[in-house]
Amino acid sequence: MKSIQQLNEQIITCRKCERLVTFREKIASEKRKQFMDWTYWGKPVIGYGHDNAKLLIVGLAPAAHGGNRTGRVFTGDKSADFLLMCLHTAGMANQPNSDHRDDGLNIYDGYMTPVLKCVPPGDKPTAEELRTCFEYFTLEMALLTHVSVILTLGKIAHDNILKYYQAEYSIKKSDYPFGHFKEYILPDKKVLISSYHPSPRNVNTKRLTKEMMLELFTTIKDRL
Ligand code: SF4
Repeated sequence: MKSIQQLNEQIITCRKCERLVTFREKIASEKRKQFMDWTYWGKPVIGYGHDNAKLLIVGLAPAAHGGNRTGRVFTGDKSADFLLMCLHTAGMANQPNSDHRDDGLNIYDGYMTPVLKCVPPGDKPTAEELRTCFEYFTLEMALLTHVSVILTLGKIAHDNILKYYQAEYSIKKSDYPFGHFKEYILPDKKVLISSYHPSPRNVNTKRLTKEMMLELFTTIKDRL
């Protein structure tokens, strides 16, 4: 595999996980009432951003009526609204919104990707589905050669980064516990920063606030 573009062309056609293929297509055909005039994407959702990104933002999976509808990661749902508002306020994105694939969003020096490319029922993937899609994630990691800072949004994203490094280096997962604004130096000198996921559950309960994210993004900018 020579480029992210080639990899993404392959991922978009993937039908390896039967349960997820059935679910993503069911959501795409049934739709939500407020999006009835949309043609849902209903396929795997690939990464978005710059091939030579220095910052890699890793999420869990596309949302049923977010990425699975719009076809772009962190686009068209409440998590995306919060994340982009914070990135824009921190001066790391050109606009405070991420609504659809052609809205011109630019995450400066950044690339965002989900560890699982298809929406899972109840936002809960099986271990086997994560394992199957991890092959693509590993290839993405290898192709994004300019990355110096990795931001993981949520524990599953964090665990997948550690799984990648466990395969490449002999690290102990227990040396890199997940938490909000935990910062680590990885064996290849990249900086790993973990964050609570910007989901409505965390944002509405104030477990994750705009101030917390801006503090974290200030540190990321310093490290880049
Ligand atoms: S989750 Fe990944 S491996 Fe499974 S069908 Fe989607 S793209 Fe393919």
